[in-house]
Amino acid sequence: PLPRVLSVQSHVVHGYVGNKCAVFPLQVLGLEVDPIYSVQFSNHTGYPLFKGAVFDGEQLRALAAGLEANKLLNHTHLLTGYIGSLSLLEAIADLCAMMKKHSPHLTYVCDPVLGDEGRLYVARELADAYAAHIVPLASVLVPNQFEAETLTGGSIGSLQEALEACDKLHARGPHTVIITSMGLPGDPDAITLVASTRQPQDAGGRLGGAQAMCMRIDRIKAYFTGTGDLFAALLLAWMHHHPADLAMAVEKAVGGLQAVLAETVRHCGAAALAAERTAEVCALRELRLIQCQGQLQDP
Ligand code: ADP
Ligand code: MG
Ligand code: MG
Repeated sequence: PLPRVLSVQSHVVHGYVGNKCAVFPLQVLGLEVDPIYSVQFSNHTGYPLFKGAVFDGEQLRALAAGLEANKLLNHTHLLTGYIGSLSLLEAIADLCAMMKKHSPHLTYVCDPVLGDEGRLYVARELADAYAAHIVPLASVLVPNQFEAETLTGGSIGSLQEALEACDKLHARGPHTVIITSMGLPGDPDAITLVASTRQPQDAGGRLGGAQAMCMRIDRIKAYFTGTGDLFAALLLAWMHHHPADLAMAVEKAVGGLQAVLAETVRHCGAAALAAERTAEVCALRELRLIQCQGQLQDP
């Protein structure tokens, strides 16, 4: 049967973050996607201004009830990204439980969007709720370094500490944990990714051993918006295509993502990468997903 993903993430009218970064890549990689929009904004929040509305827990519960009543809540995957409120996060936990009732083998890929580069961009209580109630439900967790530190309550300054953080998170539930970007002391030109899996499953659902890997990625000296969202979607798709080979799935996801970043840099040019973030500059720096369709499919 075709994989079917329920993806709860932001929607922006213009540009690429949240579901705008997830739906197209998942579709071109052959997965069916049902998107739910956790917010609908004019553009991402890094622009000088944004307008729009946020979705609350009651509204999510209504959609879930409608899907369930029509026997449409039989997805193989749940993917969640930015969730702005406690009420929505609680509804996600309930949604996940409902989905597992219909699909006992549901894979929940959770991007615990909490912050970046040392700064929380959600309320502290939301971070605590993630740690207490969402991490235990997730199959695959894809925090950046700051999020992994926030969820485990310690700083991560080495590969060893990254693996220890992964182990702490495995112990709470997720069989696969990927710290999508770390800065290691003495290596400012690199982004290091650390991936760890316990019990990777083969296509028949049999359990295997443990694997861990790290990857060194050339750091582009600029900040991009939506990279984590795109990574989570690509990883979900490639883990579906390579269920017993986490290293392969990670390589393909990073390969597609780096192709998008290279094309984004080429398109916007060095001047815009260094420029102050006016609306015009933000628009120029939007990820070039559509232009990289071929590389997403064959990275
Ligand atoms: P988030 O947006 O959630 O903070 P990350 O910063 O971890 O997510 O980005 C996810 C992936 O995007 C990284 O693993 C890396 O492959 C890529 N990436 C993000 N920023 C850069 C950058 N400046 N240079 C190169 N790759 C990047
Ligand atoms: Mg980041
Ligand atoms: Mg992120």
